[in-house]
Amino acid sequence: MDTNVDTVVIGAGLAGLICAQQLQQSGHRVVVVEKSRGVGGRLATRRLQGTCADHGVRYLDEQGPLTHNLIQALWQQDILHRWTDQLYCLQAETLAVTESKPYYTATTGLTAAAKFLASGLAIRHGQRVQALTPIDDRWQISLEATAAQPTSYLTAGSVVVAVPAPQALTLVQPLLEYGFPLELVQAIQTVEFDPCYSVIATYPLEQQSEIDQLPWQAISLEGATQTPDLAWLSLDSTKRPGTVPPVLVAHSTATFAQSDLEANDLRPIGQHLLAQAATLVPWLATPTEVQVHRWRYAFTRRPLQQRYLATELPLPLVCSGDWCSGKQVENAVESGLAAACQISAFLADRPLLITNWEAHAAELMSQLTATLV
Ligand SMILES: Cc1cc2nc3c(=O)[nH]c(=O)nc-3n(C[C@H](O)[C@H](O)[C@H](O)COP(=O)(O)OP(=O)(O)OC[C@H]3O[C@@H](n4cnc5c(N)ncnc54)[C@H](O)[C@@H]3O)c2cc1C
Repeated sequence: MDTNVDTVVIGAGLAGLICAQQLQQSGHRVVVVEKSRGVGGRLATRRLQGTCADHGVRYLDEQGPLTHNLIQALWQQDILHRWTDQLYCLQAETLAVTESKPYYTATTGLTAAAKFLASGLAIRHGQRVQALTPIDDRWQISLEATAAQPTSYLTAGSVVVAVPAPQALTLVQPLLEYGFPLELVQAIQTVEFDPCYSVIATYPLEQQSEIDQLPWQAISLEGATQTPDLAWLSLDSTKRPGTVPPVLVAHSTATFAQSDLEANDLRPIGQHLLAQAATLVPWLATPTEVQVHRWRYAFTRRPLQQRYLATELPLPLVCSGDWCSGKQVENAVESGLAAACQISAFLADRPLLITNWEAHAAELMSQLTATLV
C-alpha cells in the first residue's frame, strides 16, 4: 500500500468512506486509516453465535436526497431489505405508532452498507492515527504502534479528519504550534456529544414464538416513565429471515450513560437496562448471553451548523463528520461529500465554487454509487 499519497482520510465511518470514495473517483490517490478492525464506525454490527446484531445505527431510512440515493443503490445490490414500516413509542404507557415509512436493514447486519462504500479503497485497518505533523509542504501522519508493528508513518498533501469532534480535537489542537488557525480549534470545541450504552442480549431459540406474539419489532422509549433509563429497544433478530436465535438490542438514554460513563465493569449496566426492559416484556430479564458496548461519542448534542471545517494554510486540512451539520447518517454522508469537494479544490489550487450545493451533492452521490454498482 502506498505510503505517500494525495490525501489521507482518518476514520472509516460513513463520512470518511464517502469522502475517500469521492476523492478516489476524482483521480486522487487516497489512503483511509481506521483504528477498528472493521469499517462503518457507528454503523456497527456485532457478530454473535449463529447470528449478528446492529448495536450502532438502528436502521437506514430516507432522511434527505443523499440517504435516498444510498438506500436505492444498496437496495439494487440486494444489500438492504425493508425491515418494517412501523416503529412504536410509549405515550402515557400506551403503544403508539411513530412516523410510518419504510425502515431498511441488511440481513448480514448494517455494516454491509459500509463495506459497499469501502469497495476499492486502500484502508489501513486496526491502526489509530496518533499525531499529524506538517513537515515542509507535506503532512506526516503517525500511526500508533500495535502488538504486530512499530509506529509507522504516511505522507500526504492533504488530510481529512473524519472522526467525532472530541477525537478530532486531540489531533487538531497540537497543530496550533505550527500556525494552524485558532478558530478551527475553537469551532471544534463548540461541538457537544451525548454518550450511549448499547446492550446486546441473546435468548434461547424456543423464545422465538414469544417474539412472534409481540406487537412491536422496535420501540422508542425516550421519556417513558416505566423505563426511565432506556431510549430504544429493538428485536434485532426480526431483521433476519429464517430461524435465528432471538436477539434484543437496547440503547440507554444519554443521561443514564453520562451518569456511569467510566464504569470498568459493564455487566451491571447490562443487567440494569435489561431489568427495565423486562417491565415491558418479563422474559427479557433472562438472556443466555449479554454484551454491553459503550459509545462515548454516540449522538451529536450540539452540531457546528456547517458541512465541514477547513483550512488551507499552512497545509490543507478538512474536518468532517455528522457533527458538522447534525447527528444522523444524512449529515455524515453530506459532510463526507462536501469535504471531498473542498480537498479537490485545495489540491487543484482553485476556489470551491458551487452555486447549488443540494443539486450538486445529489448528482455526486448518484455518480459515486453508480460506480460501485
Ligand atoms: C447507538 C447509536 C444508534 C444510532 N442510530 C442511528 C439511526 O438509527 N439513524 C441515523 O441516521 N443515525 C444513527 N446514529 C448516528 C450515526 O451513527 C452517525 O450519524 C453516523 O454513523 C456518523 O458517521 P461518521 O462517519 O460521522 O462518524 P463515525 O461513524 O463515528 O466514524 C468515525 C470513525 O473514525 C474512527 N476513528 C476515530 N479516531 C480515530 C483515529 N485517531 N485514527 C483512526 N480512526 C479513528 C472510528 O473508529 C470510526 O470508525 C446512531 C448512533 C449510535 C451511536
